[in-house]
Amino acid sequence: MHPDGIPVLYTADRLLHTDPVRTIAAGGVLARGGVIEWVGPMPEFDPGAHPGPLAREDLGDLTLMPGLIDAHVHLGFDGGADPVGRMTSESDVQQVILMLASARELLEAGVTTARDLGARGYLDVAVRRAVDEGTAEGPRLLTAGAPLTVTGGHCWFMGGEVDDEDGARRMVRQHHKMGVDLIKVMSTGGYMTSGSTPWRAQFTARQLRAVVEEAHHLGKRVAAHCHGIDGIRQALAAGVDTLEHCSFMCADGSTEVDPELVAAIAASPVYVSPTMNSDVRTAMASGTWVSPVGELHRRGARIIASTDAGVGHTSHRDYAAALEALEEAGMPIDAVLAAATSRAAEALGLDAVTGRLVAGLSADLIAVPGDPASDLRVLRSPRLVVARGRRLVPRPRALSHVEPSLTGLRA
Ligand SMILES: [Zn+2]
Repeated sequence: MHPDGIPVLYTADRLLHTDPVRTIAAGGVLARGGVIEWVGPMPEFDPGAHPGPLAREDLGDLTLMPGLIDAHVHLGFDGGADPVGRMTSESDVQQVILMLASARELLEAGVTTARDLGARGYLDVAVRRAVDEGTAEGPRLLTAGAPLTVTGGHCWFMGGEVDDEDGARRMVRQHHKMGVDLIKVMSTGGYMTSGSTPWRAQFTARQLRAVVEEAHHLGKRVAAHCHGIDGIRQALAAGVDTLEHCSFMCADGSTEVDPELVAAIAASPVYVSPTMNSDVRTAMASGTWVSPVGELHRRGARIIASTDAGVGHTSHRDYAAALEALEEAGMPIDAVLAAATSRAAEALGLDAVTGRLVAGLSADLIAVPGDPASDLRVLRSPRLVVARGRRLVPRPRALSHVEPSLTGLRA
């Protein structure tokens, strides 16, 4: 929306739909009161059908497309060398300051919807409310509070320790009472917590089922962190809604994709959120890690885009790297673009809200140079981000991110 509340007609040389992928020349999107009122080719725009004053912003040689969705972030981790050390040494006030900055960074990267999958003290809920009210700038946030974990288990320092079925149910209810949007459970150990083991399951199958049963009963989806095969299998059997990481990690750090488990994932309604980022790309490029994403996609699993932004060396401003990594891991660009928009919205229960440029949905859109449908790298530098109708012009990125050879990138 225009600062004066006037509806804005955004026009550009190209408009990209991602579901399915198709480009419209000379496209326009009319945003009124945070909602898309009209989308289409400009020659078909009928001003008479939209009475009252309209502001127009002609973006010229850019591509308008749906705002991006990051299904896995941590606003309270700083993406530096020791995010856990910082989180555990900071006061709640310091954490909130960092979380607001992280939210703004995500928005600058073109992310208009994000799921925070682990924060302490319901600080994520407070930040979500500030963004909803317009007090702070950020993407639409879905919050999970403290992930449920066993005593001393992965991310125990966020405050979600539970060790039996009753404790798990009580924690889910407490989270619901405090206003979280979904439940996160640590099905296996993880890398950021000493004493926890990524390839080992943390909960029993019954405990995981109790978590899912209670969450679903309260109308909340469940995201399960899982690296090792046992933890993936148990989370799937428990009926979680998204499998986070789903790396098929073995004790020696290698990836061993279990074909039967992949088939079961593909046959189930679950979505896989593989948390790709610059770190993962480096590991893939050096041959030290093989991503299961290509095989999961080929076998029919439903992949959504996510980054784990905030964990070690993973900036909240680097979303595009995740999409490039998905492509490098074997997903065609069309599937990657859907994973970043419409499919992610579906996985998060937001397909009637965002993820596509359609009249009636939220005015979540970005404008980028070049053509994302032929080169995902253009997504590194959004020129305009509109989130629920609020307009943001991203600051230029640090020089290290600029590639002079990038097609369509203006100096
Ligand atoms: Zn995470």
